[in-house]
Amino acid sequence: MTFPIHRPRRLRRSEALRGFVRETRLTTSGFVYPMFACPGTNVRKEVSSMPGVYQQSVDQIVQECREVAGLGIPAVILFGLPRKKDEAGSEASDASGAVQRSIDAIRKAKVDLLIITDVCLCEYTSHGHCGVVKDGEVLNDPTLELLANAALSHARAGADIVAPSDMMDGRVGAIRRKLDENGFTDVAILSYAAKYCSGFYGPFREAAQSAPQFGDRRSYQMDPANAREALREVALDLEEGADIIMVKPALAYLDVIQRVRERFDVPVAAYNVSGEFSMVKAAARNGWIDEKRVVLEILTGIRRAGADIILTYHAKDVARWLKE
Ligand SMILES: [Zn+2]
Repeated sequence: MTFPIHRPRRLRRSEALRGFVRETRLTTSGFVYPMFACPGTNVRKEVSSMPGVYQQSVDQIVQECREVAGLGIPAVILFGLPRKKDEAGSEASDASGAVQRSIDAIRKAKVDLLIITDVCLCEYTSHGHCGVVKDGEVLNDPTLELLANAALSHARAGADIVAPSDMMDGRVGAIRRKLDENGFTDVAILSYAAKYCSGFYGPFREAAQSAPQFGDRRSYQMDPANAREALREVALDLEEGADIIMVKPALAYLDVIQRVRERFDVPVAAYNVSGEFSMVKAAARNGWIDEKRVVLEILTGIRRAGADIILTYHAKDVARWLKE
């Protein structure tokens, strides 16, 4: 019996009214732009499955960081490609690695950006797994020290936030202890707390050259069917000292983002991953969807689900669109 008194359409009559009552406002303030640092000078190689995304040497990284900061995007996350891969992923904690040198160069160039670094071994190991491998098994505890050393090398180079993405048990605690012992109590940890074993990572593996050489990551990344388990993973990471927690991927896990948002009072991040990006780009190139409209709808959906922070390859495009 509410009609005809109540007419929700009243507030949809004009853009002025719609904008006035809009519940979710997309801004660049929580955006993080992912970048891939590689060895060399003057290298800028486009990732074939990710149009507009490049593997870049340090000099080029600094240039793009200037552009990113100029667009009002507050943060970047850096992934690294090594000169040489080995069993233990030694270059992950090398002070002369591409990530460590990029941080230093961005700082020296005085670019006003928060620098987040991905902490993992898979880009650096010859087998492509995120931990130490013995007899075909990815070992948990021996991996923790290597991850902590990688995080420490990023902190020493000047990172604001380190972001472990490996999904080993206990890694947040190991990294927190290592940072604190070395005087980096102010460096924050953004943990990939609920990282699912997902088919949406395909294009990233080309970008980061990190595909596992045998088997898959099901023994450490989460089963896509589990949501309650994500709450447990988040709780454990917070106990170990995580400052910000992340759900990855975003689009197929909006329910997980929402449940984490409702349960925990910490900043929640979501990673709008490579496959989500590439699907949109491919469909837009075919003229099947309106890229701008679809990207804004997807990111609004991720924010509406409860993510304060969104890592997205669309960040630069969206920043431009929001300025129009
Ligand atoms: Zn990894």
